Amino acid sequence: MPPLIELSGISRVYAMGSVSVQAVDNLTLSIEAGEFVAIMGHSGSGKSTLLNILGFLDRPDSGSYRLMGKETSTFSDDELSRLRNRVAGFVFQQFHLLPRMSVLENTELPLLYSGFTSEGKRRAAQKIDEVGLGHRMKHNPSELSGGEQQRVAIARSMINDPYILFADEPTGNLDTKNEHEILSLLKSLNAAGTTIIMVTHESDIAEQADRIITMRDGKIISDRRTNKKKKTTDPISSNISLSDPGANISEILSYLRQAIASLLSHKMRSFLSILGILIGVTSVITMMAIGRGAQESIETQLNSLGSNVLSVRPGSMRTHGVALESGTVTRLTLEDAEEMGAIPEISGVSAIVSDRAQVVYGNRNWNTSVSGVTPEYAEIRSLKPIAGSFFTDRDVGMRKKTAVLGVTVTRELFANANPVGKTIKINRVNFTVAAVLPELGSMGPFDRDDTVLIPVTTGMYRLMGKTYIDSIDVQVRSRELIDQAKKSIKAMIVRRHRLDPDDEDSFSIRDMTEMREAVAKTSQTIGMLLGIVSVISLIVGGIGIMNIMLVTVKERTREIGLRKAVGARKKDILLQFLIESVLLTSTGGMLGIAAGGMLSLVLGTLAQWPVSVTFVSIIMSTVFSVMVGIFFGLWPAIQASRLKPVEALRYE
Ligand code: ADP
Ligand code: MG
Repeated sequence: MPPLIELSGISRVYAMGSVSVQAVDNLTLSIEAGEFVAIMGHSGSGKSTLLNILGFLDRPDSGSYRLMGKETSTFSDDELSRLRNRVAGFVFQQFHLLPRMSVLENTELPLLYSGFTSEGKRRAAQKIDEVGLGHRMKHNPSELSGGEQQRVAIARSMINDPYILFADEPTGNLDTKNEHEILSLLKSLNAAGTTIIMVTHESDIAEQADRIITMRDGKIISDRRTNKKKKTTDPISSNISLSDPGANISEILSYLRQAIASLLSHKMRSFLSILGILIGVTSVITMMAIGRGAQESIETQLNSLGSNVLSVRPGSMRTHGVALESGTVTRLTLEDAEEMGAIPEISGVSAIVSDRAQVVYGNRNWNTSVSGVTPEYAEIRSLKPIAGSFFTDRDVGMRKKTAVLGVTVTRELFANANPVGKTIKINRVNFTVAAVLPELGSMGPFDRDDTVLIPVTTGMYRLMGKTYIDSIDVQVRSRELIDQAKKSIKAMIVRRHRLDPDDEDSFSIRDMTEMREAVAKTSQTIGMLLGIVSVISLIVGGIGIMNIMLVTVKERTREIGLRKAVGARKKDILLQFLIESVLLTSTGGMLGIAAGGMLSLVLGTLAQWPVSVTFVSIIMSTVFSVMVGIFFGLWPAIQASRLKPVEALRYE
């Protein structure tokens, strides 16, 4: 049978700038199963370097290392991880316990990488009992003495019943009493069949071993046995299983638990680092809620404004809303409106006058907008009264005092009782209520139901004292005829009012469809701006996450080294840190969804915008934030997974 370990011509050179250190120099050594070997030597003689090579934590630069007859230099990194997990156990001078985990969890750590089983859990408890810490199972390492911590480390190293236990100065940080306890623990493990290779620089400790190898300058200068009695150990199976259990659910859960613990232990830092994601997601949610709301409102407007409607007004479009100091204003008359009805492209016309007025019923009164219109107005805007019927052309001809109320006015004056037939006062003039308009909803801050319609003539001559009208709504027969209709209207007004061609600016024809398109375009622009804001903040947020993850990886380099030492493969570390960054970004995402929902609600109520947070936007934000976590967490996670175990363990 081949020896357990067989080294020949092993060298390890450290290059430091121009100088290179031959830490292990062409070394040949063989160790049998069941031996208790102490490696002695002065500081810097190469003991740790040799032990790390023996324990698959480091690779030699040259030479051959056979484990149970199998050459290991051709093994992949993942196969070496398997060996560290199954065949080797490690005990370090600095204990290397993970601070936020209990004694039990620390002991179970290697099981993460070999597959959790209930059998493994039972074994962990048993190993802790064996090192005499059964009563400390739930304690954290910070609550234990150095000797106790080292005993936890031994329990951890033994969890998968390794063939070989590697110990680098295991008592270096301990007092004499603890030193003795640890040594007798190692001896009993050896007696039970585990091969032990221990580095020490104290000869009285080395004397406890069966065999003492002394090193100097990377070479063995003596190799002697203290115990002549050759122990007989059971031959061990040379069938090392390097099979890969793959990521399992308990591994993922463990990472998640750890990620949550680490997030909670740095609350402020975590919050700041997810702020970018939070803002990004908030604006995605708000953007989509507003965009959707705008779209809905534009659609209702589209239906209620009537299709293919033009509005003819005095004054130019450019000077709209600004006091006119020069130029003429064409005053429109009822006759203009009437004649427009004769233009072939036009299917409906309504002259409009409007003003604010005080309406009174009994002891209730209400200030609202009163418009004088013709019955065709109701047709153009498809206003079908929900009670009563609209006034007629005859009523217009007779300047009848009849009124059609919007639902807001009805509610304010009649508390929703049927007002048809009742008499109200508009600016002290009695009017009979003829009908109630259907509910129109609001358009931006304007409540379109807060209105009263009366015959245009009544409005002009009996209520407002106007001899001119304010505007004319014109419905064109079809979309294609709009340009033609505009030309005809223009020609007609120029002719009727004997305008110079330069006076064309004295009136304007507005295309409602154009207006709607402008509104749609504006909301699109706002949506796009918000979209850009959210993309930028998601990117900036992602960079923030990347930054904090790089810091985390640096801070936890030794943890990564330890995890690798007990068998973590590249992909285990990668997965762990990806889960951590995704947890960060998805927490930011969830907070952002909540904030976006609230912001949309507030905007909706304050500005009376219709908003709707959609399920799609929530799903999209979640997917976005997870993707940002993966994308920006990948680089730090790769950095972590690439760390070399020895270098990571030694990182200060
Ligand atoms: P020991 O454990 O016997 O004290 P080491 O094996 O740690 O010795 O180191 C052997 C030699 O290699 C020393 O001269 C040390 O300075 C050098 N050495 C060890 N690790 C490194 C490293 N990562 N980079 C450069 N030199 C190193
Ligand atoms: Mg050392």
